[in-house]
Amino acid sequence: MKIEPELLKKAVHTWGKQAQLLMVLEEMSELQKEILKNINRGKENLDEIIDETADVEIMLEQLKYIFDIEQQVTDRIPIKLNKIRVRLEG
Ligand SMILES: [Mg+2]
Repeated sequence: MKIEPELLKKAVHTWGKQAQLLMVLEEMSELQKEILKNINRGKENLDEIIDETADVEIMLEQLKYIFDIEQQVTDRIPIKLNKIRVRLEG
């Protein structure tokens, strides 16, 4: 799902780049915590994983906007995917 760019820009301009970069880390940490709970404790926390994955995706969109790297990331993805393809298929 493409996140409305104007909303992301408003968030960054309202709360500031530094606060939003810290929020990227905070949301990634929350997702890590839920993944660890799922693995280590065999916890059935799919809803929490969905929630935190959504948070991280939203924050990654803001990260790309803050550093103005949307296109570079888009361009890098097929290169990364191709490396994975080569590792898998030789
Ligand atoms: Mg969260």
